[in-house]
Amino acid sequence: MSIKLNIPFKLFADCIPVKGANRGVLCDLQRSNIEFIPNSLCDLLHKYDGYEISSILRDHTKNDHETIIEYFDFLYANDFIFFTKTPNLFPPIKMEYKTAFEITNAIIDFNKSSYDFKKVFSELEKVSCKHIQLRFFSKIQSNELASIINLLNRKSSIIQNIKIFIPYNLQNTKNNLEKLLKKNGRISNIIIYNAPKTEVYNIKYQGKLLYTIKNIIDERSCGIINANNFVINSNNFIESKKYNSCLNGKISIDALGYIKNCPSISEHYGNIQNNTLKDALSHKDFKKYWNITKDEIDICKDCEFRYICTDCRAYRENPKDEFSKPLKCGYNPYTNEWSEWSTNPLKHETIKYYNLILD
Ligand code: SF4
Ligand code: SF4
Repeated sequence: MSIKLNIPFKLFADCIPVKGANRGVLCDLQRSNIEFIPNSLCDLLHKYDGYEISSILRDHTKNDHETIIEYFDFLYANDFIFFTKTPNLFPPIKMEYKTAFEITNAIIDFNKSSYDFKKVFSELEKVSCKHIQLRFFSKIQSNELASIINLLNRKSSIIQNIKIFIPYNLQNTKNNLEKLLKKNGRISNIIIYNAPKTEVYNIKYQGKLLYTIKNIIDERSCGIINANNFVINSNNFIESKKYNSCLNGKISIDALGYIKNCPSISEHYGNIQNNTLKDALSHKDFKKYWNITKDEIDICKDCEFRYICTDCRAYRENPKDEFSKPLKCGYNPYTNEWSEWSTNPLKHETIKYYNLILD
């Protein structure tokens, strides 16, 4: 099938071009994929979506025609565009982020901590939190983990999804962890870090057991940006355009029980032993990072990945600047190269400032 020059073309609404400093990406939000495209094609798509290709050709010199035809052959062959005589019937996706709840996700850190999990879960339910990450930095046996998860084993619990990080421990056999997953439909992943090798086990109709050689020391291990962590879907894309892609809708309890937006940020809003999450949320500063988007962050604002990449406000290249690029990102949108952030000599002072422990 070849492209049609005299029928208007439309980009599928969930294929969104994003221009960067040096190149663009076409974010395919339905197929969770990105395609690198030249910025010149981003410009054409922004300007001419809903027009005939012949009108683009008319607006350009003959020298450009071959390239323009190549672009559209590629877009059509890969199902990014379609042709229609009624382009007005296909409006763009509304960039409106809506959620019924103020809090959408929580991080709960544990390091031989003394707070009461029952209270933590009951508080999370009171703020209607559905997704939680439990990060254990000290050894925990699978039976202790089972008792903690059992606290949620009520039909009425609104917590839908639990992701658990635990350190590798020979005594927690794969069999035991698998049993835990099978018994608790709410657990989506158990990530066993500092393991001898990296392996993934998909448990049928349940979650995943992921063994990784990577180590997590404590909350300071968080915030690493790499392409494997990009989230390509419409919810994340729209949220990233309007809000901070990590901290919006997040509440955390650090290993000492302090209630925070993120465990790595020093500001806290009381302790879970004596305070409620609702009170913490009502503090005027609790949401101070929620509205910082990638479009406002230095360097990220020029990056083609800005609406699929997560952000990190806890570790910044310039700790004194709230709009500084995440420290743990090694991507340069001006050269399109990735490098190891932790060995970049320009970052050494800041790594020391945050007292980060590197692997
Ligand atoms: S702000 Fe950074 S450290 Fe905090 S949760 Fe997000 S990525 Fe992790
Ligand atoms: S420069 Fe910013 S948006 Fe781009 S990959 Fe790094 S952190 Fe993400």
